[in-house]
Amino acid sequence: MVAIGTPGSSSAKRVMLLGSGELGKEVAIELQRLGCEVIAVDRYAHAPAMQVAHKSHVINMLDEEALYELIRVESPDLVVPEIEAIATESLLKVEQEGTKVVPTARAANLTMNRRGIRELVASELGIRTSPYRFVKTHHELEQAATDLGLPCVVKPVMSSSGKGQSTIRQRTDILQSWNYALEGTRGGADSLIVEGFVNFDYEITLLTVRHVDGVSFCEPIGHRQEGGDYRESWQPQPMDEGVLIECQSIATQVSDALGGFGIFGMEFFIQGETVYFSEVSPRPHDTGLVTLISQNLSEFQLHVRAILGLPVPYIQQYGPSASCPVLVSGESKAVEFVDVDRALREPQTDVRLFGKPEVSGSRRMGVVVTQRDTVDEAREAASRLAACVSVEPSSEVSRI
Ligand code: AMP
Repeated sequence: MVAIGTPGSSSAKRVMLLGSGELGKEVAIELQRLGCEVIAVDRYAHAPAMQVAHKSHVINMLDEEALYELIRVESPDLVVPEIEAIATESLLKVEQEGTKVVPTARAANLTMNRRGIRELVASELGIRTSPYRFVKTHHELEQAATDLGLPCVVKPVMSSSGKGQSTIRQRTDILQSWNYALEGTRGGADSLIVEGFVNFDYEITLLTVRHVDGVSFCEPIGHRQEGGDYRESWQPQPMDEGVLIECQSIATQVSDALGGFGIFGMEFFIQGETVYFSEVSPRPHDTGLVTLISQNLSEFQLHVRAILGLPVPYIQQYGPSASCPVLVSGESKAVEFVDVDRALREPQTDVRLFGKPEVSGSRRMGVVVTQRDTVDEAREAASRLAACVSVEPSSEVSRI
């Protein structure tokens, strides 16, 4: 039996979201729909999920003591990490003291750092990944490039949205890659991962749900990345049945090793019939925004059901669908989107504007999702309509 109380009362099911971006906002909305009390946390005020939460806090979530103190004072029933950049030592501590962490504090801890998850998947579970090395100095990076061969991909062990990621194509790129990775490194991480380049045919996210009745999968999501950040995603990615079964089997193995309930975004590279595990996030995935239109239960609904201990009896994929982010670049605290009506005039199309309070540089501010007769048509329409959601010409920002 799962009991959910009344928000604001002693019976409330209180859920604390660590990270209040666009994915957290959708999770908060789904929690609200099931009558939970939502406490949103992020490093800045008016973050998207805070705008739909009962309560919010602004703290540096990489500050172990501040995070521990906040969780202790709020004493939520569930702590739900929505980003990687969290002092996961605090999560390990509160879990030991009896607070439930989604999916588990260990999963959050292992996946916040590329070293943790690589070592679990490649060394302990023996699953195929790209060949890799961890390096701490420029000299070690040069050596790794020699060992792995060129091209190779350099990433900070802790970073997000492709920050600090680059590809070394010739030896003269090494110094630039080194400097770029250091700029993109977050949270006191002291090393980089260097990966042999996998010349894959396509890459997928396999959304995998661990719930009270077992493990369920969404149809595979194909996506295209630029500089480590997603530019479009589509579902279903056409693929060989045997290859999909292998991905599902690896996803089950990896999610079992991490444990707990929730959705896991499992990323794979596919080259012919060979499957390479790339990485996993134990939470909704940005490429999974397409499920806002493509499924009876979006990845956010699935996550919320799973973490509350509710059943997931059936996931229905409605047909070829795609998502394309609305990216904005420049400096503004008052971005205005125009021509949203033009995008919404087309059938089976939705626009989500995240309500982020500010742009400084380049930022994902919204997404267009659409369902069509074929994947190609869905991709074309999502990109065209995302381009049509333009920003106010008088502001100092532009779409990119
Ligand atoms: P990640 O942040 O590790 O998911 O990397 C972002 C994207 O960069 C991936 O989705 C791939 O498109 C690309 N990428 C990362 N690692 C490799 C690799 N070893 N070989 C080829 N492409 C890669």
